[in-house]
Amino acid sequence: MKKHIIFEYHKPGCGSFTRENGGIAEGGFEPREPEQFRRRSEPSLPEVSENEVVRHYTRLSTLNHHVDKDFYPLGSCTMKYNPKVNDALALREGFTALHPAQPDTDCQGSMELIHELGELLCRITGFPSVTLQPVAGSHGELTALFMIRACLEARGDARRQVVIPDSAHGTNPASIAFAGYDVVEVKSDEKGLVDLEHLKRVLGPQTAAFMITNPNTLGIYEPRIREITQLVHEAGGLCYMDGANLNALLGLVQPAKSGFDIMHINLHKTFSVPHGGGGPGAGPLVLSEELAPFRPGPVVVRDEQGFHWRKPEQSIGRVHMWHGNFGALVRAYVYIRRLGARGLRRVSENAILNANYVRHRLKDVYRLSYDSPTLHEVVFSARNQKKLGYKASHIAKRLLDFGLHAPTTYFPLIVPEALMIEPTESESRETLDRFCEAMLQIHHECEENNPLLDSAPNTTPVGRLNDVLAIKRADLCWPEESHGES
Ligand SMILES: *Cc1c(COP(=O)(O)O)cnc(C)c1O
Repeated sequence: MKKHIIFEYHKPGCGSFTRENGGIAEGGFEPREPEQFRRRSEPSLPEVSENEVVRHYTRLSTLNHHVDKDFYPLGSCTMKYNPKVNDALALREGFTALHPAQPDTDCQGSMELIHELGELLCRITGFPSVTLQPVAGSHGELTALFMIRACLEARGDARRQVVIPDSAHGTNPASIAFAGYDVVEVKSDEKGLVDLEHLKRVLGPQTAAFMITNPNTLGIYEPRIREITQLVHEAGGLCYMDGANLNALLGLVQPAKSGFDIMHINLHKTFSVPHGGGGPGAGPLVLSEELAPFRPGPVVVRDEQGFHWRKPEQSIGRVHMWHGNFGALVRAYVYIRRLGARGLRRVSENAILNANYVRHRLKDVYRLSYDSPTLHEVVFSARNQKKLGYKASHIAKRLLDFGLHAPTTYFPLIVPEALMIEPTESESRETLDRFCEAMLQIHHECEENNPLLDSAPNTTPVGRLNDVLAIKRADLCWPEESHGES
């Protein structure tokens, strides 16, 4: 029988480790733990040899799809290759053995790294100030809204609304509501861009901020972004850029020059920190002089004696314990330093090239909802396939049979049957071709009503799950009573 979990390997007496004290003299050694700390009963752990443990977990590590296994074109998530040298350096003992409460004098090197990473992010984006404390893009959004509120209150002009385009990422309205603001939506026009006339109508004395991703979630760069930020400023609001799509802009555009006051950066997307499954990320904010006094603290400052922690004068307080996810900061620092300014520019150029290659190869079969030029990702609509009886989810699930991860589906919401593809710069032409050929073959299968589409995925460890129940009623418990008996 195929074994799925480590308990199924349990065989009494076959453990690789024993806590018995028998041996040298009769009765063995006296246990050293004080009586009150000793277990009253044995823990219910499986007895398995070390060899079997290693093989079991190695096999498990290949059951899920991941970016080290094959192509992962999950739009908006920037699943690029994460160079292993980032991990190797982040795991050096000088970093991992530091306690965050250690005196400044013991951690000058790590504080210098934080300081320098902040400066590099400012140079890349054009902003004068930074905080590295938020640990996700969405966390950066929320932190920024708290800072915007503090700033507007300091101006004596508290306001209630935050405006977002109808193509916004789900975290944007969520952060706005969580921060206690009202969400106001602005329409996209037929080109997939912000409808300026509608924007003018919704902006007003209650507008605290305007929040936008650029290039937007369709992968389209807003050509009138300066005009947009100017309109918001004239209405008395601040401009927030969701920087999740920075992979399209490195060395090409500095968002501060488009008139933004503050933006977050997803280090785990753009700067190759491993992510997925909710692991530790980093969502630093880069921002204007006006917002700098409100940053969460403490921040690293430098003087003649070295680096110190300081709390900004009007700080909104902490948004995370200690100094954010330091390991993620080290990885991003290494990545940026290794590539240098020219290398970063090539990242974006190649990310744009790869996405446009896929766009070009698939556009005759999968419909483009908007034909405006796109940058680092491309959004198709499976409308042609829907007419044949198959939805975006059929295509996504069938792709898994080819050993490829599915694109993002059903987002952005303004595209019916959306398939959002972001190949990233780190894929070869051969991989892109393999993906495009799989997509073309799947379309052909739709035309001939191939039953594999309804049963897909056919080759994965678990088959077609109920999308809703698989999350709401995940069965993750091993029944203890049957332990070792199956
Ligand atoms: C990923 C993403 C976010 C949220 O970032 P997290 O780090 O996942 O919290 C926000 N906006 C866009 C456009 C994104 O792609």
